[in-house]
Amino acid sequence: MQTVSTLFINGQAVAGEREAFGVVNPATGEAFAQCPAASPEQVDAAVAAANTAFKTFQHTADADRKAMLHRIADLIDAHADELAQLVTLEQGKPMALAQMEVGAAAGWTRYNADLDIPVKVIEDSETRLAELHHKPLGVVGSITPWNWPLMIAVWHIMPALRTGNTVVSKPSSFTPFSTLKLVELINEVVPAGVINIVTGEGGIGRAMTQHPDIRKIVFTGSTPTGQDIMRKAADNLKRLTLELGGNDAGIVLPGTDLDKYVPALFQTAFVNMGQTCAALKRLYVHESQYDDVCQRLAAIAREQVVGNGLEAGVTFGPVTNQAQLDLVAALVEDARAQGAQVLSGGAVQPGNGYFYPPTIVAGISNGVRLVDEEQFGPVLPVVSYRDIDEAVALANDNINGLGGSVWGNDIEQARSVAARLESGTAWINNHAEVLPHCPFGGSKMSGIGVEFGEEGLLEYTQSQLLNISRG
Ligand code: NAD
Repeated sequence: MQTVSTLFINGQAVAGEREAFGVVNPATGEAFAQCPAASPEQVDAAVAAANTAFKTFQHTADADRKAMLHRIADLIDAHADELAQLVTLEQGKPMALAQMEVGAAAGWTRYNADLDIPVKVIEDSETRLAELHHKPLGVVGSITPWNWPLMIAVWHIMPALRTGNTVVSKPSSFTPFSTLKLVELINEVVPAGVINIVTGEGGIGRAMTQHPDIRKIVFTGSTPTGQDIMRKAADNLKRLTLELGGNDAGIVLPGTDLDKYVPALFQTAFVNMGQTCAALKRLYVHESQYDDVCQRLAAIAREQVVGNGLEAGVTFGPVTNQAQLDLVAALVEDARAQGAQVLSGGAVQPGNGYFYPPTIVAGISNGVRLVDEEQFGPVLPVVSYRDIDEAVALANDNINGLGGSVWGNDIEQARSVAARLESGTAWINNHAEVLPHCPFGGSKMSGIGVEFGEEGLLEYTQSQLLNISRG
């Protein structure tokens, strides 16, 4: 597999100034390629290039920026196979899911291309015309995680470019190659310096969050890192969009059609091997259906074909890195030690790679780490409840508030329960569904701001009120 082995700064492919680092294929546990590593001086060079490019890019005609994003989407489509291969190699997801990720990356890019930046007339009277306009901010720093590397980079970069900002991107050092390729493709379309990429670990991210010439950081990742970014951003009042950790609860109401909904419960909990910010991470089931739901989920778990995502027929890939595998294993061991029952999976698969089969844990409740903490991996704790008030209290008993869901046949009842969830999104009879036109963001410790839709787009802008006196 050919990987991009340069950074892009000011439209140029440049070598990393620090020693390259190996990127591990989680299906083998072996490094499959060397990634260039940026120096702090290269972060400065990337920001300087983006700052210079902003002086002209901010004034490009709206129609030109729309056309650029459409051309980028076409390039993503044209390189879909290569991008999907890179995603599976570096992240581990089965090829069909990687292809979906690439398709979503192109779709999100086109959606952003077609969005309009609104001008709101606040007052149009004899005395004045007051209009609210939106202007780009300047250099946007994008820092991304390892779970959906290509798609999340697109979520950050496209609205930034659409609104006339310039970008410095830093992918996770676990999964840099699909973003490096994306930035190479974008550079075929936009002027030099409009998009730049630097690679490395947290130190490179910190150099960005402390940089005086970056006007906004858009960050997707863990809550502690988001808190660190927020502290550093205070120095020059950077705008922030923080999409952080989640520990999403789902509530199954009594009398729910299990034939219809249990497959979706499984799918939305285990999508991407559970490594999805808004995956279903704790499930609360009424005691009348508890055993049935647990057994059905465990049966679906046992049907999964666990293996290398590049192989045909594999439905379930590895965990993306050793640290995450260790965390998942430790949380399951802790639950077991506290008397929980492991109905499927429950142990690291012997051999190479970071494989942990889908695991259903029953006989557990709040107060056990596996329920209280974000597992971000292929294990779902299932908790029994007696009445709805108890279920809502248990669901809300968490510092996070990204998504939540209610499952049941009676939509009006589900709606009234969903309204009581402390979460940025509440799904009914679904979970983890994100859409380019629906604003998405966290409440409580899950983040600040939203992505997607017009609301998400405008987070990359500074409002300017134009007040024309007619007196
Ligand atoms: P992470 O916070 O460890 O790393 C994310 C990125 O931040 C990486 O590029 C990393 O190099 C960089 N980084 C690390 N320390 C930094 C610092 N001090 N300053 C600046 N940058 C720094 O997160 P992760 O382990 O890659 O991702 C998993 C987490 O992301 C989970 O908690 C998950 O829920 C969350 N996530 C949230 C969303 C969402 O939309 N809310 C989406 C995906 C993932």
